Amino acid sequence: MKLKTLEISGFKSFANRTKIEFMPGITGVVGPNGSGKSNIIESIRWVMGETSAKGLRGDKMADVIFGGTNTRAPLNRAEVSITFDNTDHYLNSEYSEIRITRTLYRSGESKYQINGQTVRLRDVHELFMDSGLGRESFSIISQGRVESIFSAKPIERRSIIEDVAGVYKYKQNKEQAEKELQETVDNLHRVQDILFELE
Ligand code: ATP
Repeated sequence: MKLKTLEISGFKSFANRTKIEFMPGITGVVGPNGSGKSNIIESIRWVMGETSAKGLRGDKMADVIFGGTNTRAPLNRAEVSITFDNTDHYLNSEYSEIRITRTLYRSGESKYQINGQTVRLRDVHELFMDSGLGRESFSIISQGRVESIFSAKPIERRSIIEDVAGVYKYKQNKEQAEKELQETVDNLHRVQDILFELE
């Protein structure tokens, strides 16, 4: 699975539609302070389903929409699309190319699309579940997060490692199975009570 392209339009400092094509190897982004390097990374987190405005250095989600400059009026819409080559089906999808688009209007209207089809935020989250990617994953480490990982308590650090190792899904499955087991035990008790009353 490879990151192919990122298209940003109306997101933070990217008023004009900007397309970044990722070539094989390592991609570095360089530029002066305040030129929008972090905004690129934030656009990736945003399109992958980030729901915290604070996590994107804003107060409310509409803050991600281009807010205008001295020479340019604010825009009404932010849109980001990310395309992955999924020929190895690393992401749990039948598609060999996956394009996710997120759009937000100032009115608050918002939508997610996977390969042109409107989907729920949950579908976007599920696509990345246990892939080691996604908005909460450690594939994107923002400034300041490195320090927070080093200063985390052992139990927190363990959950980071479990997340990266893909154990999270099994933990969730285990919790679900335990819940169902408990419900079955409760039902059995209920049946035993009824049988007892009937005898
Ligand atoms: P540094 O090297 O200092 O970390 P950077 O290259 O990572 O900087 P960013 O933090 O990505 O820069 O970009 C900051 C710029 O983005 C600021 O000029 C800010 O005004 C602009 N910006 C942020 N949100 C918006 C918005 N909604 N509309 C217009 N411009 C915005």
